[in-house]
Amino acid sequence: MDLEKFKSILQKNGYKITKQREVIFETLLENASEHLSPEELHLIVNKKDKDIGIATVYRALQLFEELNLVYKLNFDDNRYRYELTRDEEHQHHHLICTQCNKVEEVSYDLTSNIEESIKNNYGFEVTNYVLKFFGICSQCQEKNRRKEI
Ligand SMILES: [Zn+2]
Ligand SMILES: [Zn+2]
Repeated sequence: MDLEKFKSILQKNGYKITKQREVIFETLLENASEHLSPEELHLIVNKKDKDIGIATVYRALQLFEELNLVYKLNFDDNRYRYELTRDEEHQHHHLICTQCNKVEEVSYDLTSNIEESIKNNYGFEVTNYVLKFFGICSQCQEKNRRKEI
């Protein structure tokens, strides 16, 4: 995914390429490894264009989601986060630190056996899945250890 592809998808679907949409999408691209909430995204976007309000960010994200450009993630931490939709055969999974809320990505293909067994046992064809692992990240573990001493 890049800015050109983004523009052509907007046009193909009959949406205008506004400067605001472009800045917002560009910021998502630049922070592709992050899993930004609309509020976090808004803060970064504002460094480039201080006239873009939070409502514009929400609307843009909603549109990007409709166009399948972004994927909305819910880690049960009272906010939604977004990441760019990627072409990958198996979706990556997330490690969520319950202490600092950091999100890391893992790309283990640990699910082909699960897909297989679901198909055999339930006759259900799995096309997508999301795995969330909740726990304590290595940095927080380190911090906790130091606190204990
Ligand atoms: Zn942590
Ligand atoms: Zn991710």
